[in-house]
Amino acid sequence: MARILVVEDNERLARLIADGLTAQGHVCDCVLSLGAADDALHAAQFDGLVLDLGLPDGDGVDWLRQRAGALPPVLVLTARDALEDRIRGLDAGADDYLPKPFEMRELAARLRALLRRPGERHDAVLTLANLVYDPAGQSVQVDKVALELTRREAALIELLLRRAGQVVRRAAIENSLYTFDEAVTPNAVEAVVSRLRRKLDEAGAAVELHTIRGVGYMARARAA
Ligand code: CA
Repeated sequence: MARILVVEDNERLARLIADGLTAQGHVCDCVLSLGAADDALHAAQFDGLVLDLGLPDGDGVDWLRQRAGALPPVLVLTARDALEDRIRGLDAGADDYLPKPFEMRELAARLRALLRRPGERHDAVLTLANLVYDPAGQSVQVDKVALELTRREAALIELLLRRAGQVVRRAAIENSLYTFDEAVTPNAVEAVVSRLRRKLDEAGAAVELHTIRGVGYMARARAA
């Protein structure tokens, strides 16, 4: 699960990409211009960027070059035969490129590879007490029995398990769980935590989601 910004001025394609990545468990925002991309990057923390190069307010390669080092991993989308574009894009700081047209599965796979940072396997199974979370299928098991979670509940348990024993701030949770288009009410995160807590309890998970008042939440193994 990751928060991805899609910068693509073809609205239909942007929507297709966002829907595909959302189905994979990611949280996706789409913007249609480089200016809007800058605004989005100021407003939230993204784990990855999908960037078209021909945009109405400028060239994606120039934009990349000016922000070198200040961006999350970038996957560039280029026209099919534009070898020059690809080389320029990679030189400017893109981490990978994908020629159009592409298969959604390939985009998802390349993005997964980009999001894998050294020392942190994004696709490794996470375990806490008798709870097992598999990021590849966003599936949760308690004592080897599958637990039905909504996409958002699964994203939350992943986020908390990745930092089990540490406090995850509420703002970080909001950032990871909601796009700009989704109105986040003040108690939205609390509501998801409560639902998840109830499901974990009912399934007999020896995991507690501890509230640190005014700060955030922490997952830890329940004391025997
Ligand atoms: Ca374009």
